[in-house]
Amino acid sequence: MKHTVNHPVVIGGGPVGLVLALSLQQSGVPVTVLEAQQQGAMYGDGRALALSYGTRQVLERLGVWNALASKVTAIETIHVSQKKGFGRALLSAKEHQLPALGYVVSYGALMQALDARLSESSTSLEVQYQVPVQQLHVNAAAAEITFQNTTEASQSHDVFTTPLAIIADGGRSLEAIPGLVRETKHYGHDALVGMVETELPHHNIAYERFTPYGPIALLPNGEQFSLVWTGEQAYIDQICALDDAAFLQALHQAFGDRVGKFLHIGKRGRFPLKLSKLEQTFQAHCVVIGNAAQTMHPVAGQGFNVGIRDAMALAENIAASSASEWGATHRLTEYHQSRARDTGRGLLFTDFLVNVFSNDLIGVGLLRGAGLGALSMLPFARRFLVNKMSYGSE
Ligand SMILES: Cc1cc2nc3c(=O)[nH]c(=O)nc-3n(C[C@H](O)[C@H](O)[C@H](O)COP(=O)(O)OP(=O)(O)OC[C@H]3O[C@@H](n4cnc5c(N)ncnc54)[C@H](O)[C@@H]3O)c2cc1C
Repeated sequence: MKHTVNHPVVIGGGPVGLVLALSLQQSGVPVTVLEAQQQGAMYGDGRALALSYGTRQVLERLGVWNALASKVTAIETIHVSQKKGFGRALLSAKEHQLPALGYVVSYGALMQALDARLSESSTSLEVQYQVPVQQLHVNAAAAEITFQNTTEASQSHDVFTTPLAIIADGGRSLEAIPGLVRETKHYGHDALVGMVETELPHHNIAYERFTPYGPIALLPNGEQFSLVWTGEQAYIDQICALDDAAFLQALHQAFGDRVGKFLHIGKRGRFPLKLSKLEQTFQAHCVVIGNAAQTMHPVAGQGFNVGIRDAMALAENIAASSASEWGATHRLTEYHQSRARDTGRGLLFTDFLVNVFSNDLIGVGLLRGAGLGALSMLPFARRFLVNKMSYGSE
């Protein structure tokens, strides 16, 4: 079946796609979201997202935060240190007159809160579930999106024609978008994630510990910590092969004593780390946002928040355009330019941290010690970092 719509269509109803859709709806712009999975499929996903203070403000404006507030854990202090080296730094919310430096929430809880808000929203926002998009074709006048309707027995293929297709699929299914060039750097590192129970309570402190193998982050999450342990794939292979007791001991050895003994590790997950970005995020009638546009190392919890800022900037751009300009190159150029600095800096910043803090070269250890020392001594350096983490480049 063929449908022609005169409004934007979002491919992917993950957090970035839904934030964009809710924001468009708030501005009175009709929008359709095509999501591959069924509603609620991700509610059980425990991956821990670090929300910046700026992302909290976005969720407040969209009326999502209230449903989420009881499910987030505030980060009031960030403690940065390095193994086998001097220098440590503390960033605190109080020093910067913020209620928190950020918040930890599970992906599933965020999706539930977004869905709850969607259920209150008007008919101008429509989400279609179980409709995986299979093809995107862009011509001079419009974008044509081909998707499979898996809810129907016939599993028919339908086509949506829209002035603007917005790709927010997380970068997994539509990796190669015709006409857009992607640069990818594989770190050869994996992240091992899981919930870990410790002897001492977290007191809302997030820890970032740089080791010669890669950074280890402990994020306060409920009564426990979410662990993100990164390192070369062969190293993560070794850690994965350990039984729980040996794993907890190895973690203690790598992380040190700051939270006492590690008592219990939940189910361990693992994913490969890469830096990936589109040189240009748009062509006429098509634009890419969120993880689909850029993927970064999780070292500083930047990626997800950069994606949310993409969604908000694009929503503003669309709302400020007349309907006849949706999908127009000059409008999408404006959007792309407005995002280039924040995205570029996020990618550079995380890549820099990985390179400087995750190797054992003589001299680099001194440099990072000096960096941490400067951070602990210089209030303006801390202010810069807190602003960067909270609001991107603003
Ligand atoms: C395995 C994995 C683990 C991660 N763990 C962490 C972590 O521990 N901490 C952290 O901060 N970040 C983590 N990240 C990154 C984080 O998940 C992303 O920053 C965030 O999810 C980006 O949101 P998004 O909406 O852009 O994409 P996604 O959350 O990926 O959402 C994309 C949506 O698009 C839908 N979709 C995909 N293809 C199609 C299609 N063809 N048609 C229609 N719909 C489609 C998907 O079903 C999904 O709902 C992880 C990423 C991955 C892949």
